[in-house]
Amino acid sequence: MRHISRRIGALLVAVSTCWAAGPAAQSQASSLFAFTTNDFWLNLHHYLYVLGRAHRRMPDATQLAVASAPEDERQGLLLLTDEERSIWDASVTGYASSLSRQSSVFQPPLAPMTITLANTGDVTGFPPASFDAAARGTLERAATVYRKAWWPRHRAMNDQYLARLQQQLERDGPAIVEALTRIYQLSWPERPYPTHVVAYANWQGAFSFTGRLMVLSSNNNSFNDRWYPLECVFHEAMHQWDDRVSQALQAQATRQGVTVAQDMSHALVFFTVGYVVQRLHPDHEPFIDAANLWRGTLSGARVPVGRLRPAIQATWKAYIDGRGTRDEAFAAMVAAAAAPSP
Ligand SMILES: [Zn+2]
Repeated sequence: MRHISRRIGALLVAVSTCWAAGPAAQSQASSLFAFTTNDFWLNLHHYLYVLGRAHRRMPDATQLAVASAPEDERQGLLLLTDEERSIWDASVTGYASSLSRQSSVFQPPLAPMTITLANTGDVTGFPPASFDAAARGTLERAATVYRKAWWPRHRAMNDQYLARLQQQLERDGPAIVEALTRIYQLSWPERPYPTHVVAYANWQGAFSFTGRLMVLSSNNNSFNDRWYPLECVFHEAMHQWDDRVSQALQAQATRQGVTVAQDMSHALVFFTVGYVVQRLHPDHEPFIDAANLWRGTLSGARVPVGRLRPAIQATWKAYIDGRGTRDEAFAAMVAAAAAPSP
């Protein structure tokens, strides 16, 4: 459930209207996100991508969000004939030697592939007209085998994950949106967020393209359990505000004659969403604490994000709890990040 979000100016396919449109869009949990769980080709592509990294023994292949992929593959292979197995092996090897070498899903060719395959549904024929020829060939060869050995289980996994998440959204979604819009003083879009569920996405478990398209993974792991899917879907959704939050932080930094720490905005997203969910469910340990992300770096920063922790847990948390204004809190955060560490 680690996420990065980038803006990419690429095409987006139309969103299927699988939600009930209502007049008071923002107050209805069902209209916050437009989910799909049946994107056959999107699931296949991401599964091959994740398996390709596992076969290459990349360090991120052991992360929780993808750790079960090889065992899942082994179980599926038992259902196949020798010929089918060699077709599948060739597909995984093909990904391992090409697309799976790439660690970021935000760069071409992976980013446009995800966007093109999102929302294409459960169709037999390869849906997009325009696609990388080699990748298309690999996907088409693997499709029948994937459909036989893995897709029924992956699709059921997606549906099960979504059913649980929908229940959480029905219950808590409107309250979370209300809290986040109050804290950030920004309005939530009326258009449901296009959100696609796949069995395996990437080692971070979820990613999004700045408010335009989100991919969540459904496989069983401890960070897909309890309230983590709820935190995850809102964490990703928060990246829709990245540009505006950057501007607001920058305005404070300009006033103070300092620069904004590049991981500040993302650290606030992690903390804020985790804390908002925890206020609703006191047993919830926010992801940033549970995974101890404080030890590591975020958003390309060179120093661990933990240096921002005291200021966030004091000043920003106090602001969330009702003390002062947003811009006072942003100003204090910018100042704290600019000050040398004690
Ligand atoms: Zn994020």
